[in-house]
Amino acid sequence: MNNLANGMRPVFSVVIPVWNEEEVIPVLYERLVQTMDSTGERWEVIFVNDGSRDRSLELLTDLSRRDARVKVLNFSRNFGHQIAITAGFDYAEGDAVIVMDADLQDPPEVLLRMIAKWREGYDVAYAVRTKRMGETRFKLWTASAFYRLIRYIADVDIPLDAGDFRLMDRKVVLAMRQLREKNRFMRGLSSWVGFKQVAVEYERAARYAGETKYPLRKMLRLANNAITSFSHVPLQLAMYTGFFFAGLAGLGIVIAIILRLFGHDTLTGQATTLVSVLFLGGVQLIFLGIIGEYLGRIYDEVKDRPLYLIADAYGFDAAAKPDTPRPTHGDRQAAPEHVQPV
Ligand code: UDP
Ligand code: MG
Repeated sequence: MNNLANGMRPVFSVVIPVWNEEEVIPVLYERLVQTMDSTGERWEVIFVNDGSRDRSLELLTDLSRRDARVKVLNFSRNFGHQIAITAGFDYAEGDAVIVMDADLQDPPEVLLRMIAKWREGYDVAYAVRTKRMGETRFKLWTASAFYRLIRYIADVDIPLDAGDFRLMDRKVVLAMRQLREKNRFMRGLSSWVGFKQVAVEYERAARYAGETKYPLRKMLRLANNAITSFSHVPLQLAMYTGFFFAGLAGLGIVIAIILRLFGHDTLTGQATTLVSVLFLGGVQLIFLGIIGEYLGRIYDEVKDRPLYLIADAYGFDAAAKPDTPRPTHGDRQAAPEHVQPV
């Protein structure tokens, strides 16, 4: 590692996506400063304002003016939580990068335990929730079912009950930066890159203030992204189902011939025919839809739009200031200077 270039770089970068979190920002900042200062190292925090409509941006830029360690990326609109994390990774300069939610459900104090693991030599320390407070029974149940399903069908080993709350060594972050797929499931990508990973258990607190920014619709989209990005099982199901029904039909043909040969006139029952035709029509449409899901994702990749657009940045040094919005996808030459591997 180049020590000269490293001179001013922080040891820790904390990445926090923010969408309409005005109520939590002051407390969040206070708790964060307390925790990070106790490490005795240089650190920075990158808030990614994901198109907030409340006073979040104002509060954040205020903090950035007063505290040089606070940096703000302001998206041109709401691009979503997973994309906001991606942007944070793209701009983080620390030797270790920590992702956490703004709402203090991920207590900053857990950071210290992750940092300890990093010092022991682990490259990724991910937080696993042993308990979740202040969330509906429905959310707990669906989340739990989802983690188990994805573990069962995904190609990579995605740990149970781990969210996006984690610490990553710089080399892992550099690896993550190369993954520019559009429909992103960051935890899956984080497992995909490998390296030495370790779990840190914690009890997930209730949201400090405000409401969840993940309504059912968004949760389903995230689950959908996770499954289609990391598994071909849904596509393969079409084939298995096809074999099953083709086998059933083959049996039906044999039975029909036998009945015919031995004198029974015809099979009666229009209802049976109608129901089976409708049923198979439905099954075919479902699989057509599944193929469509994957096809849509291919289309998204082919369009190759940038993952996000930054309207303004605060607190970064001149090199990183995007007066000219930089391309943020694919080719690595176009990435800001400090995004280059060290
Ligand atoms: N968030 C975001 N963009 C979005 C939705 C959420 O940046 O479109 C942020 C939000 O401000 C929070 C984090 O992502 O910091 C997680 O959201 P939330 O706490 O509402 O999710 P939950 O904990 O309920 O799953
Ligand atoms: Mg939350």
